[in-house]
Amino acid sequence: MSGIEVLRGLPAVLRSTPPLFSTTLAAPNCKVPPLSPIEEADAVAFENGNEASGVIDLSGLRPAMARALEKFRRMVLSAGGTFDLKSAYRPPAYQAHLQDVWFKWMELRNNRTAGCQALRAHVADEFSRHLLMETQKPVTFSDHTLGLAFDAAVVLPRAARQRRRVSLDRLAVLAGLTRPDIHRDPVHFKLVTGRGGLHG
Ligand SMILES: [Zn+2]
Repeated sequence: MSGIEVLRGLPAVLRSTPPLFSTTLAAPNCKVPPLSPIEEADAVAFENGNEASGVIDLSGLRPAMARALEKFRRMVLSAGGTFDLKSAYRPPAYQAHLQDVWFKWMELRNNRTAGCQALRAHVADEFSRHLLMETQKPVTFSDHTLGLAFDAAVVLPRAARQRRRVSLDRLAVLAGLTRPDIHRDPVHFKLVTGRGGLHG
């Protein structure tokens, strides 16, 4: 296996405990229904710790994707750059939760009803915790749930870019990766495959 530590979810002892964050919040005086509870254990573990605490699930990546990620990371580091992995594989139920939070926020963002303010604040919290953007609705099936994408903040030093004419995207292509939406989603890298994958 590569030098990257493969961390699969949380320890069993944590998986069996109730969620640290409750995703449901009863709001009896608000007509807007609360967020749906997260369905699967894997997704609950995700919600409660993985990405929030920097534990990224690489074991759910397709083997070719895991190899491309490691190759890219090595190239970036040897060019003197930094590579900060933010997200890799996501369970489908977790992706569904991201979508749920997004829709709920769009429904509540302009809601000024007194009875809805606790729910609105809760959803706002989830929205920012998951780094969601109003302009970008999370997709239902993404390259992340397929194990074909990761998110990483990658920075190359200016000197390396000038002296060695290395660009981030040139290195990505050499590793078999591409950034489908550099401007709106600059951290999203996906594996170059024969067919066009789904963006997310
Ligand atoms: Zn992404």
